[in-house]
Amino acid sequence: RVYLDYNATAPLRPEAARAMTALFEAAAGAGTNPSSVHADGRAARKRLEDARAGVAALVGAKPADLVFVSGATEANNWVLARAPVDGLAVSAIEHDSVLAPARARAAAEGLPLVEIAADGDGVVTPAAVAAALDDLAARGARRPLVSVMVANNEVGTIQPVAEIAAEARARGALVHTDAVQAAGKTPLDMAALGVDALSVSAHKIGGPPGVGALVLCGGLALDPLIAGGGQERRYRSGTENLPGIVGFAAAAEAAAAGLDAMAGLGALRDRLEAAVVATAPEAVVFARKAERLANTSAFAVPGLKAETQMMHMDLAGVSVGSGSACSSGKVSPSHVLAAMGADADLCDGALRISLGWATTEAEVDRAAAAWGALYRRLAGSSAPAAG
Ligand code: PMP
Repeated sequence: RVYLDYNATAPLRPEAARAMTALFEAAAGAGTNPSSVHADGRAARKRLEDARAGVAALVGAKPADLVFVSGATEANNWVLARAPVDGLAVSAIEHDSVLAPARARAAAEGLPLVEIAADGDGVVTPAAVAAALDDLAARGARRPLVSVMVANNEVGTIQPVAEIAAEARARGALVHTDAVQAAGKTPLDMAALGVDALSVSAHKIGGPPGVGALVLCGGLALDPLIAGGGQERRYRSGTENLPGIVGFAAAAEAAAAGLDAMAGLGALRDRLEAAVVATAPEAVVFARKAERLANTSAFAVPGLKAETQMMHMDLAGVSVGSGSACSSGKVSPSHVLAAMGADADLCDGALRISLGWATTEAEVDRAAAAWGALYRRLAGSSAPAAG
């Protein structure tokens, strides 16, 4: 099979598998509780802190600022639901793990909330953020929170987070960014971004699922998420998921070393898009002119449903994604495409093809051929009968 759904989850990197296996084997007799004071516990503590440094390096953060959590959904919920702020401005193209807690909190606490639209290329402009903050200020917010992702999961657009953070800070706002899709695909430097909080997830970079991190620096003071034994600087009690964390760090180190190769995926992505457009000149490639992740392509053909295309690709042995698929397992119209102002008949037709660390040219060509075959079968007699 060909796996081209890296933005949903990346295959486990061998480096992560090896690191976790080694830990399981080493731990079989000794346990892995980093809070134990004996030598075995101290060895686990060292592994935990080494892993913290490895993950922090991938996002240009200080290891001491990083709190391990169960994934980016938890990190995003923690910030959006609990940051000590009096207003929320989130982009309309955020992942549901940002949008849902923002909406729930606004409803429960009567907090003003602005969902900032993206432009037609899928970019949230600093001017749009500034306008949202002016709106919040007019509604009485003195210290709001802005949350804009570094890169979008569906169309891959890279957001001007540093400029957005500068606008936000000038207006007294705190800034969070969901860096889940950017991590390991493009260089990240939290200080240069100028944000107060940043979320990452292991399984998107070739680590195991169920582990992620929230990096907290700057002025965002959060109350502990889970009370108990005081692990993770009292922020998140509970014995750490050391195997997952060690796998996360091994993947982060491999991803950091592979950033150039990731950038090189742009050539394969362009090859795929060229093949799609050559087969179907009416195909719309989303955010094609915007700055995008090199691994991500989202496109649609009027009248072709995403679900049908995915089924045909699946039968042809190619795993691809579509709008919102990772949140529901069912294909629903994409809120990201809607926020970009895409035509309604395209919003439930977008296929997302995302490449990654193990993708080959042959795999991309197989995917392009499979898509061409389904297009010729489904798009009716008006479609060109290419050989
Ligand atoms: N944010 C973005 C942009 C994502 O793509 C995802 C995963 N679909 C998440 C957050 C959630 O991450 P996790 O699976 O670690 O909870």
